[in-house]
Amino acid sequence: MTVEIYKEFTFEAAHKLPNVPEGHKCGRLHGHSYKVKLHLKGDVDETAGWFIDFSDIKSVFKPTLDMLDHYYLNDIPGLENPTAEVLSMWLWERVKKDLPQLHAVEIMETCTSGVLYKGE
Ligand SMILES: [Zn+2]
Repeated sequence: MTVEIYKEFTFEAAHKLPNVPEGHKCGRLHGHSYKVKLHLKGDVDETAGWFIDFSDIKSVFKPTLDMLDHYYLNDIPGLENPTAEVLSMWLWERVKKDLPQLHAVEIMETCTSGVLYKGE
């Protein structure tokens, strides 16, 4: 049995987008309450009844989350242009190393805008 599971995280951060046209609102310093969902795909272990412990995902992701929460994203190497798309790729590269079962990184930047990245 193969399943796709996810774990959701939230963090607050400030950013601005340096490459938008002059006068674009995203060029101004502002913040978001980001939601990140890490989707993992794998086979369910018959005895355990799961394929990964949700708390293991949390432990693996914590150092990355701590780098982002209440920081100015533009200051973080690799996030000089911190769109949701760039952030999703940056997260994919970091998380995939420790969680090879990673299937997708989902980011909600606002209540109505988000990105889903599957490493392609
Ligand atoms: Zn923004």
